[in-house]
Amino acid sequence: MKKLLAFDLDDTLAVTKSPIDDRMAAVLPKILDHFDVCVISGGKFEQFLTQVVNRLNANPEQLRRLHLMPTCGTRYYRYDLFKQRWQLVYAENLNRAQKRRITNALEEAAKSLGFWEDKPYGEIIEDRGSQITFSALGQQAPPEKKYAWDPDGSKKHKIRDYVVPVLPDVEVRVGGTTSIDVTMIGIDKAYGMKKLMEQLSFNKEELLFFGDKLESGGNDYPVKALGIDCLEVSRWQDTVNCLEAILHVVS
Ligand SMILES: [Mg+2]
Repeated sequence: MKKLLAFDLDDTLAVTKSPIDDRMAAVLPKILDHFDVCVISGGKFEQFLTQVVNRLNANPEQLRRLHLMPTCGTRYYRYDLFKQRWQLVYAENLNRAQKRRITNALEEAAKSLGFWEDKPYGEIIEDRGSQITFSALGQQAPPEKKYAWDPDGSKKHKIRDYVVPVLPDVEVRVGGTTSIDVTMIGIDKAYGMKKLMEQLSFNKEELLFFGDKLESGGNDYPVKALGIDCLEVSRWQDTVNCLEAILHVVS
């Protein structure tokens, strides 16, 4: 019996970097009446708020069952019923020297491969504390530009393959549509899922994970490799269809 539904964010719950649709916003609080829900993604906590939480008309009890794991589960936030706000439960940060080496390696890779954008939409390389993220067109690039940049994933994989030998002590993963995520070794979505199972005393069999990058090398793959049941989706509409069907069965 599944007790917790876990979701990747971009292209699983929403269009990349965009707020969830009305249909998704309507179904999630109802799902929270029946299941714990975790959202785990390479994005920052602030993105979780703008893309998901602020779009929900959820009561505090429903929010208490929502588990937010930004930056690949290197941070974990939960809603505090007494303080009536989100509280950081833990954070795993990279040190300053690691951050510098990662930033230099990503920039060098993108420049040597000809993928460095001269006029980006915001920062290309962003320090997210526990994660360094490379976004080829900049953090604020419009979705249509992002989807067009690397539809078959070959550019992202080339950048990853370039930096992996230079950065043997960290984990380099293809992230979202245009992004590469670098974290400490062993910290990925599977790490986040393990932490969550500890915190909530759930076992693998009680979890169901939804993601759009479950292929080997994708940022959702570690969850599948851990042995958690996974449902592969290619866009948020697939997910909302599943959730509406689940709701129909449980309610
Ligand atoms: Mg995704």
